[in-house]
Amino acid sequence: MHSYAKLFATSQEPRMSDQNFRSILTGSFSTPCADNPTVAMIEAAYHHAGIDARYINCDVQASNLADAVKGAVAMEWVGFNCSLPHKVAVIEHLDALTDAARIIGAVNCVTIRDGRTIGNNTDGKGFLASLKDVVDPAGKKIFLLGAGGAARAIAVELGLAGAAHITVVNRDAAKAETIAALVRDNTDSETTATPWEGKVQIPVGTDVVINATSVGLGDANALPEIDLSTLKKGQIVADVIPNPPMTRLLREAREKGCTPLDGLGMLVNQGVIGVELWLGKTLDADVMKKTLRDIFGVSGAS
Ligand code: NDP
Repeated sequence: MHSYAKLFATSQEPRMSDQNFRSILTGSFSTPCADNPTVAMIEAAYHHAGIDARYINCDVQASNLADAVKGAVAMEWVGFNCSLPHKVAVIEHLDALTDAARIIGAVNCVTIRDGRTIGNNTDGKGFLASLKDVVDPAGKKIFLLGAGGAARAIAVELGLAGAAHITVVNRDAAKAETIAALVRDNTDSETTATPWEGKVQIPVGTDVVINATSVGLGDANALPEIDLSTLKKGQIVADVIPNPPMTRLLREAREKGCTPLDGLGMLVNQGVIGVELWLGKTLDADVMKKTLRDIFGVSGAS
């Protein structure tokens, strides 16, 4: 019998030796990390599902990243998320990458199996899962605003999912072209880059408009510089901004008869996909979404 069990065992059942005080360990490495609500979202869903797992939000400085990865392996964590500024830097510390992570060139979710670390990217997959609730992107024309890390992951996943055409629009046109070339080289989607000059017009025939810029984060009135009159009824208009979820772009789009899709779904689905990779279990997305809404102080109706 384990020494702790000896110490606490009484004549009554259950004995300590029948119980398990070892939680499954998962978490996140980033810096700064204190404002990242993922821990609350995932632990609420672990609790709801009765899963004895923890998600530990760790502040990891860049100079400590290698040790943090080794530590997670040594402590037999089953996986962890990587957020800014580690999404690219973590790659050199991993044993293998999934195709999507290799193409995107960034990792935000690492699975640990038998001491081996496998890097994945769930940013784009989370978005895609959310989008698929309203439309299958296969064969669709996509207009993507922004060319940062989120846009890159989304563009690659849309390409892999069979989008017919993706237009990437960005102020820094070179970044848009880099993403367009990446998608062209690795998927069958036709992808073009356009510089963002003045009020951008949504081309006729666009099925899905996506704001993957940071415009709207923490500012309910900020609006990406687009010509709102070119939004058409029936289009899907998605925003990656999780807080506030109902951005001005989404409110304007809803007024025009478009279907709005908020960034909470992307965030929640990343959590769902990560835990599926780590534990092989599907968490309750509604519990996660409600937790985030409570944290962000927004009501259930968007
Ligand atoms: P980056 O810093 O990598 O990219 C920011 C992008 O926004 C760039 O393309 C930048 O253009 C563009 N941009 C910024 N300001 C403006 C502006 N005023 N007008 C037009 N374009 C602008 O950030 P990320 O890609 O990592 O993140 C982008 C957003 O996505 C963030 O707000 C983040 O919170 C959100 N996000 C949401 C997730 C979710 O799960 N919901 C997951 C990941 C990110 P330029 O290159 O020309 O500077």
